[in-house]
Amino acid sequence: MSKSKIVKCIDCDREFPRKELNRMGRCPECAMAAMRDDITQMHAHSGPYYEKWKQAVKAAAGKL
Ligand SMILES: [Zn+2]
Repeated sequence: MSKSKIVKCIDCDREFPRKELNRMGRCPECAMAAMRDDITQMHAHSGPYYEKWKQAVKAAAGKL
């Protein structure tokens, strides 16, 4: 058996085997919470996730 690499979740700082974290480095719990925040902010049209999304849309529109 090979030891799986232990890494820290970028949000909660708890340690997990690398394969349990998603591409962003979040554990399943934080990934779920982040997704929930994301959706909430998109509906509210405010918050850091929404601002980030708006910037991304603007950047994409500028390239057309
Ligand atoms: Zn976490």
